[in-house]
Amino acid sequence: MRVDVVSIFPEYLAPLELSLIGKARQDGLLELNVHDLRTFTTDKHRTVDDTPYGGGAGMVMKPEPWAQALESIANAQAAAIGDSSDGPTKPVLIVPSPAGERFNQALAYELAEEEQLVFACGRYEGIDERVMEWAAGHFTVRPVSLGDYVLNGGEVAVLAMVEAIGRLLPGVVGNPESLVEESHSDGLLEYPVYTKPSSWRDRDVPAVLLSGNHGKIAQWRRHEQFRRTAERRPDLLVEFDAGRLARADRTAFGELGYDVVDGRLRRRPDGDLPD
Ligand code: SAM
Repeated sequence: MRVDVVSIFPEYLAPLELSLIGKARQDGLLELNVHDLRTFTTDKHRTVDDTPYGGGAGMVMKPEPWAQALESIANAQAAAIGDSSDGPTKPVLIVPSPAGERFNQALAYELAEEEQLVFACGRYEGIDERVMEWAAGHFTVRPVSLGDYVLNGGEVAVLAMVEAIGRLLPGVVGNPESLVEESHSDGLLEYPVYTKPSSWRDRDVPAVLLSGNHGKIAQWRRHEQFRRTAERRPDLLVEFDAGRLARADRTAFGELGYDVVDGRLRRRPDGDLPD
């Protein structure tokens, strides 16, 4: 996968040289290019912002440097693909924004399938809206939010998204099995994990994990996923596909106060607990 990031603070992206993502870059699994937006300005002050039309607080990022930067990335990619391309597939342009669709594991999986991702890091009050309209001619434009809060710029959001997407690329995580059981991979949170020693500061590891009985361990872990998700993120259970749950799983959910109705989990009214 090729990733291009445009920012006025290229140094902010330095952590992507570390750890698994850094190694993926060294191994050629991920090509990452960071571009300084100011190199696409033409005035001596390298201006990237101006006052907002209509008045109000803050500054807005000017359209022209963004157009120059994105055009140069689009042209470089078109030249790299050359005539060998089967057809014009537009790269995805992700515009981090608190007003975008929410980033989650499903979107990370979807974006991990792309050949090229371009990230446009906004600052100040954001980027002149016309840039996104114009860019739709070259890219599939997706405004994406990291969560319902406001950051100072898109760089932190890009660090999080590139890490979440990059670790899904084949070969990046040593044991692909570890991706399968993680939180959010199947709509549930992960079960609690433990390591040696088996007894620590008067706290014992759950006995089932020391039993060697793989069937029982798998069932315990699954039911811990149910319990933890019901306790911490009941909103996830609304979307959970419960239609194919085994009888033991339905019983476990029943004990947590949930019934399966038409393939979905329904929370029983408070106080209506199982016998
Ligand atoms: N005025 C904008 C608004 O209310 O929607 C917020 C601008 S914010 C101070 C500056 C930049 O930070 C945004 O253009 C965006 O790139 C980034 N940003 C802020 N919060 C974000 C979030 N939750 N997710 C992704 N990017 C965010």
